[in-house]
Amino acid sequence: MLVGALTALACAHADVRVLTGPTPIPDGDARAAGDLTVVNEKLAFALAVESAVPFGVPRGAIVDVAPVSHGHIGRDRVAFADFIPNNWSAWPNTYQHVDVLERGPRQVRIRAVRDWGRVNIVTVYSLSANSDQVEIRATMTNGGDETLTDLLSGLTLWPRSGFLFAVPGLAGVSEGKADGALADRVVAYDAGWAITLHAPYLDHIGSGSRDLFQLHTLQPHESRTFTGWLQVGSSGDLAPVVGAEIERRQLPSGTVRGAVGTRDGRALRQPVVVAERDGKPYAWVVGREGAYRLRLPAGEYALYATGRNYSRSNATSVNVRAGTGQVRDFHDLESPGRLALSVADARNGTALDARIVITEGQKPVVEFLGAKTFFTQLERKGHADLPIAPGRYLFTVSSGGGFLAADTQVRLTVAAGPARQHSVAITPLFDPPSRGWYSADLHHHADQAEAVTPPADLARSQLAAGLDLLFVSDHDSTANHAVLQQIASARGVPFIPGIELSPSWGHFNAYPLTPGARLAIDTGTATIDMILNEARRAGAAVVQVNHPFNPYGYFASLKAGVAPGGFNPGFDLIEINSSVPNDDGKVLAKLWEFWNAGRRYYIAAGSDTHDVWNDRSGRVRTFAHLDAQVSAPAFAEALKAGRAYVSYGPLVFPSVMFGTQMQVVSGESFTLAFDLASVAGVGKAELISGGNVEDSRSFPDAPLKTHVDFTLTSNHPGWYALEVEDQRGRKAYTDPVWVTIAPPQQ
Ligand SMILES: [Zn+2]
Repeated sequence: MLVGALTALACAHADVRVLTGPTPIPDGDARAAGDLTVVNEKLAFALAVESAVPFGVPRGAIVDVAPVSHGHIGRDRVAFADFIPNNWSAWPNTYQHVDVLERGPRQVRIRAVRDWGRVNIVTVYSLSANSDQVEIRATMTNGGDETLTDLLSGLTLWPRSGFLFAVPGLAGVSEGKADGALADRVVAYDAGWAITLHAPYLDHIGSGSRDLFQLHTLQPHESRTFTGWLQVGSSGDLAPVVGAEIERRQLPSGTVRGAVGTRDGRALRQPVVVAERDGKPYAWVVGREGAYRLRLPAGEYALYATGRNYSRSNATSVNVRAGTGQVRDFHDLESPGRLALSVADARNGTALDARIVITEGQKPVVEFLGAKTFFTQLERKGHADLPIAPGRYLFTVSSGGGFLAADTQVRLTVAAGPARQHSVAITPLFDPPSRGWYSADLHHHADQAEAVTPPADLARSQLAAGLDLLFVSDHDSTANHAVLQQIASARGVPFIPGIELSPSWGHFNAYPLTPGARLAIDTGTATIDMILNEARRAGAAVVQVNHPFNPYGYFASLKAGVAPGGFNPGFDLIEINSSVPNDDGKVLAKLWEFWNAGRRYYIAAGSDTHDVWNDRSGRVRTFAHLDAQVSAPAFAEALKAGRAYVSYGPLVFPSVMFGTQMQVVSGESFTLAFDLASVAGVGKAELISGGNVEDSRSFPDAPLKTHVDFTLTSNHPGWYALEVEDQRGRKAYTDPVWVTIAPPQQ
């Protein structure tokens, strides 16, 4: 199949064609006999007709996209790129039909039809021979008799590797109105490829520009069409993207060209020139042999030149006028430098795993030109040897993730040429394992689906964060278990193999799984009973309800009546997720409601990191108390027994273990005592009982460590849990101590 497809492609390169069967796109996910791949000489994309689509989206959607260059299909670069009605509402869905309307050789057109409740969704994919853009035209028609209001619908682009260049002007915006957008596209890219989603209808974004939405209503019998294009290139050059934008919108345009070289007169083999508009990155061009040429819509720009690990040139302004060409040369770049850092414990010189972040200094906008976050090595613990652009930097070096030691700031100047060695000393302040407390980040992705962290980098990041056990939970995949077990064994730390079971109406982490376990159900169509059975079959001791109140969380879906099978009590843990911090209150209120009813569901926490360079592993983490050996089963057992708390920073050491039962005499006083600690200084502690604050303490002198006693009396059974906040506003939430009442002695 593969050879046949590639050969056919090489022989008839001006054609576009449809292939049926497992996709020839390397690493592609459309692997079923009925799946479709469309390929021309510029790109290939595959529709999952029979294969499951990630995130529980119904079948008949694009799951693979790859550049094609010189007759070779490149690797799959997307997890999902297709139309979504109302902010990832995929269900209820009862059917999908996919038909090939036109098979080539000049043009291929495929139509996918499905329902979403009473709405009919027809998506037509068109690709012409020679074109580098797939047109996607999705039409929603409301077949019901109710008006649907405030829908956020549109095309999405979820890459599975590389970097994301957000909608220009909206960098750093996670979701909301697209006011301030300088263009209507998002680009996923790396040095060897670029996939752009052009979405002219765009007025809202979601998921940090991965979702390009329009906010709209849909009256009964009303139709609305969303048209966008996926443009695919075989390099990280955005000149074709800007070119397509100019063509499509028929913008007046002009060109800028010039030379790029170093201070000492050498031309850059592969210069990059970045164009900013209103002080914000708009696009870039990758040049060749010291020269570049970029066509831009008419207007004012600032331009600067750079290269991989080269310094940035001074910026220059240019007023691009329609139909004109201008020249801007750059001759002030510095050649690449290197930085060698060793990080060690200030007290005894022991090497420490660390995360190193550029806080001030050059942070490349074009991310394949140089990193802004680095980690020390796995093999040579505590050492980092980094290629980096010359310049002055302020680095923040962190070992223990701000939980075990304060971050250290290091000011350094990097020169062109070979590395100079620098040492960084860090003083660990706290050692929870010495008191039986071990931590893990219980929601962490590696490189499956839309996550972009290779397993070795996951391990470096989790070790740098001071986590005691490695953990992974990829979407519906156990592909990284074996390699992470090897890495963990080599470093002498335990590993918790997990999975995030990911139907569209709820995500569940199940762990630790049996070695070699593989997912054997289709989470896209499974009910809650099937999900929980599958978790147990794969060996999971605990099942955690992830981000329960976000739009696709289980508790939110239960409330909306869209979770197949309704409420099943067979889970164990409820998650605090630092990607949705505004939901912490809802999660706690739900736990309190269960605890008030005497139901022993317990707390867990994870960061939901997908990209260790941009997210922070262990930003929120779970501490569990282990009596004996540190292992994945022992950790899960402690969570299930409630011997745990979750934290964004503060450390808690209780006198009466969480999850245990304490018998008190009615009306007689008893004490719950806690040692508290925080790198940032302890701020306050609140004792919660029955869902209300029973007592509290504040610590205006911000002690790094302190002790608190709560003296209590009670005449009814109940529970006590602690909430701690440090001086930086970072919180910790504990499992409860259960109290039963003995009658007063006669
Ligand atoms: Zn999730």
